[in-house]
Amino acid sequence: MSHMSADEFRRNGHQVIDWIADYWESIDHRPVLAQVNPGEIAAKLPHHAPEHPEPFDAVLADLDEIVMPGITHWQHPRFFAYFPANSSPAAALGDLLSSGIGAQGMIWATSPALTELEQVVMDAFAEALGLPEAFRHNGSDGVGGGVIADTASTATFTALLAALHRSSGGRARVDGVATDRYTIYGSSQAHSSLLKASMMAGLGEQAIRSIDVDPATQAMDLDSLRAAVERDVAQGFRPVMIQAAVGTTSTGAVDPVALIGPVAREVGAWLHVDAAWAGVAAVRPELRWINDGVAEYADSYVTNPHKWLLTTFDCSTFWVRDRQALTGALSLLPEYLRNPASESGAVVDFRDWHPQLGRRFRAVKLWMVLRSYGLTGLRRHIGAGIAQARRIADLVLDDPRMAFAAPPVLGLVTFRIVADDNGTRLTDEQADLVTMTAMELVNASGVAYLSHTKVNDRTAIRIAVGGWRTTDADIETTWEQLRQAAASALATAPPTTEQPAG
Ligand SMILES: *Cc1c(COP(=O)(O)O)cnc(C)c1O
Repeated sequence: MSHMSADEFRRNGHQVIDWIADYWESIDHRPVLAQVNPGEIAAKLPHHAPEHPEPFDAVLADLDEIVMPGITHWQHPRFFAYFPANSSPAAALGDLLSSGIGAQGMIWATSPALTELEQVVMDAFAEALGLPEAFRHNGSDGVGGGVIADTASTATFTALLAALHRSSGGRARVDGVATDRYTIYGSSQAHSSLLKASMMAGLGEQAIRSIDVDPATQAMDLDSLRAAVERDVAQGFRPVMIQAAVGTTSTGAVDPVALIGPVAREVGAWLHVDAAWAGVAAVRPELRWINDGVAEYADSYVTNPHKWLLTTFDCSTFWVRDRQALTGALSLLPEYLRNPASESGAVVDFRDWHPQLGRRFRAVKLWMVLRSYGLTGLRRHIGAGIAQARRIADLVLDDPRMAFAAPPVLGLVTFRIVADDNGTRLTDEQADLVTMTAMELVNASGVAYLSHTKVNDRTAIRIAVGGWRTTDADIETTWEQLRQAAASALATAPPTTEQPAG
């Protein structure tokens, strides 16, 4: 057996850092979207682990020659398809340190600094976002706190488990939930992780109430929520959780948390706020309107530094107002983890805050990001994305062929092609087809990567900005490509009955 020697590790390590730096510098010249067929990469890879050690260079060579052509470049400056999953130099180094330290923080006693740094970082980050003091470990009441989850999906599932614990008066963890008629509420635009959480918790798809949205804003319609809750209560259901989205995935819509909160409170439902993408924008004080109502009403809140905020996947920050609902739902104490610190109650054991036992040192990554950029740097980064989105919104407004499908929100612009080059309005079906074709042409060009969605059942293009390498020039280049794509799509669209102009 041969580990790399310290010298070999240094040499190879330097080579890897160089590799990453070169990759980032060359990324603009690569097609954004991997242009390969299913199975193409797998067919080129060695299919058996080698019997004997291979040189490090051989692995890197295969990475370059075989793997990289099959990578869709999420760090590409013209990746606009999904919400950004920004890496950054600071986060990549933080992640590397976490790997090197290799500590397991399942409970405080297994590595005290891991837990305590995470508590401090989560409190500092809550403060940086203007989230309420009630969410902090060190808050005045001392019952809230934050934890780093792998993803928002896990955080939402965890919130549901806490909600079930509270709603069942602690019975859920003993008896299960099969015999209770729990219901969960989210808008029709809620992220699919809500449905998945219900399935995983054993409540099934049937527990989900999909609440209508305002067709103009795509935000949850309060009257529909109220009606659904009242109907369920009258029929003997128990509303266990209402999820408000602050920035939906499809259009960035912001549900009215301040109005949803009182409905949740009236029926004793847990209010979970899913701000996976948008929440980090609150580092800029003037954007804190997105969290109106959170301080008063939210029982839990999740946002992902691993999307917009430069913290290499995975890092999802999740706060609760009352940690006892979480630990009540999830704590276990196997004999081998018994220790005086836990029994004294003086420490936090994060194992009791999420589904899994083992946990890595993610806090060091977020800490590195917060300290390397400073709040000034993070605010500037969010501000740049918003300015670029505003530029795209202006380009949509200036193009008579285009129209917003939903109001632009923060770094997300959702629009469709609704008229031809002469300004003649397309039918809805024509517009769907032309919009989709134009998007596909842009993606096939390799110049940029966009995605589509449905808004009120009609096809729309989504451009999600906020990439850490995106410059203003990238916005212009992308728009030029889209302009050409729109012209081609319009030219090749099958002529159907035209509606008269005006
Ligand atoms: C991206 C997203 C999620 C899922 O995030 P993961 O961290 O990948 O689980 C959930 N909700 C919203 C609104 C999102 O945009």
